[in-house]
Amino acid sequence: MTIEEVMVTGEWVRRGGTPAAPSKGRLRPLGLKEVTLRPGFWQQRQRISRENSLDHIEHWLTRAGWLGNFDQAAVRQGREFSDSEIYKYLEALAWANDPALEDRFQAIVARVSAAQDPDGYLNTNFGRPGQAPRYSDLEWGHELYCFGHLIQAGVARARAHGRDELVEVAIRAADHVCDVFGPGGIESVCGHAEIEPALAELYRVTGDRRYLDQARLFIERRGHQVLGDIEFGRSYFQDDVPIRDARVLRGHAVRATYLASGAVDVAVETGDEELLDAVAGQWAEAVARRTYLTGGMGSRHQDEAFGEDWMLSPDRSYSETCAGVGSIMLAWRLLLARGEARYADLIERTLFNVIAASPADDGRRFFYTNTLHQRVPGHEPPADQLVPRAASSLRAPWFAVSCCPTNLARTFAGLAGYLATADDDGLQLHQYTAASIDTGDIAVEVDTDYPADGRITVRVTRAPETPWTLTLRVPHWAGGATLDGEPVAPGYARVRRRFTAGESVTLDLAVRPRLTFPDPRIDGVRGCVAVERGPVVYCLESVDLGDVDFDTVHIDPSSPLTDRDGAVIVNGHAGATADGAWPYGGRPDGEGAAVEIPLHPYHRWARRGPSTMRVWVPATTD
Ligand SMILES: [Zn+2]
Repeated sequence: MTIEEVMVTGEWVRRGGTPAAPSKGRLRPLGLKEVTLRPGFWQQRQRISRENSLDHIEHWLTRAGWLGNFDQAAVRQGREFSDSEIYKYLEALAWANDPALEDRFQAIVARVSAAQDPDGYLNTNFGRPGQAPRYSDLEWGHELYCFGHLIQAGVARARAHGRDELVEVAIRAADHVCDVFGPGGIESVCGHAEIEPALAELYRVTGDRRYLDQARLFIERRGHQVLGDIEFGRSYFQDDVPIRDARVLRGHAVRATYLASGAVDVAVETGDEELLDAVAGQWAEAVARRTYLTGGMGSRHQDEAFGEDWMLSPDRSYSETCAGVGSIMLAWRLLLARGEARYADLIERTLFNVIAASPADDGRRFFYTNTLHQRVPGHEPPADQLVPRAASSLRAPWFAVSCCPTNLARTFAGLAGYLATADDDGLQLHQYTAASIDTGDIAVEVDTDYPADGRITVRVTRAPETPWTLTLRVPHWAGGATLDGEPVAPGYARVRRRFTAGESVTLDLAVRPRLTFPDPRIDGVRGCVAVERGPVVYCLESVDLGDVDFDTVHIDPSSPLTDRDGAVIVNGHAGATADGAWPYGGRPDGEGAAVEIPLHPYHRWARRGPSTMRVWVPATTD
């Protein structure tokens, strides 16, 4: 590396590194050492991930044989992409950057490094005796996908700690990819995007333009039918239409969001506004027509894909946890590039209603899919077996395809990186939780019980002598918000002045229960309402209804919503329907008996044993 490049990495090491660090853009990310989570909603979950999930993940990576695959004598276990779970786990350890985890980290890096071929190739499923040749199945082989996660882990290590063995392994792998898939090489792409953002990020770490050029080449190649046709069609891996020409995110939701993330990285680093506009437009269309109330993405189970516009039936919500991670990766990149609050709004919605919903309280079981309507009570999956199906009815310890637990672990480990940003004019807060933020020139303490309470107090503890701007996001749902008592509109509220240490600014967001109605074109929930409170989506669970017939419950939208003991209470009716031989007929008379309907945060669902559940509840019609 040149001196300049060492400075780039070295500066990040001082600041603790951060996931996604563009060299240009409207906002600058902060390092993980610059933002410290304090006790609250997110610190609790990050702590459980650190204390329980990491052990749990390594236990299963070992037990399932996926880690052992790196040892030459091993008989290969697991699916073709299982190497990527080891890399995501390494990325989580890298962002955690905890001396207590260092021996564990280095032990795995040694096994990974030993498995790398002299030319940089590394995959436990191809190229060895008895295995298919390298790059003989680009549609499904996931070799470049696995390289992408390896490189992301190396990027995390370089930024959080500095250049060492894992970084060298990642660079050798990236050089190999450029040699084989660069100009004059194999003119194709991987069936699962991920190498694209990884190479762009490695360019940011090393300053080596070759990686950025290769990322751009992969972005430009896809969409020209370079991959073979498959049962789901080429839109599954976004090889149907060039990314510049697409209208909306489509196909496999994780693939789509990872690819779009890489495209934003390439667009930002190369100054390609046309590409950035294209991806921003696709994101906006996907959010407007293809996203669940929870922020979840993906309506099709058979191919884990986005559905058509308005295809958002709650009982068919796939909403893979990994698609939530991919959505946050994409929205964060767009936020850094453009500085618009709508990106932070979607990140918040996804954090509270997908990321927080997936892990069990002990961090040792997970939802892979996140349905919005559970029709039959689930059953507890066995604690000691891989669950073969993604759509398990209750949180499961591990899956045959176990992408989500490791994706959550790396997201929780880097979570502080998504709270705030800086620019030449000051500091911007995008997500609210108790935290200490110190960028050197500016230091603030954020005090809040959000999302239980909407009051956020930002106390300045260090400030420059000159005026600067403190910017606070006002979420799109927060009508009636005030900043130091003055009304502020959704978007960004700004206070510009010369601050002195000790003074504070208070944002009051109206966190109270509200009814949410769907666009009538989402026919799967037409005639239904949902309850939200601040950024948190609520749901109705059968365990809270006693003898009331869950399937007949109607909410009366004219009745008041009240907070009670962590639940939202609303009035409605139930039990008007008699079972018959044919479920269709004339207009029913009456709404049934009046009932009190308690709803709880969706992210809390299925934590009290099996139950049926729905986010969207039918509304009374008169
Ligand atoms: Zn997943």
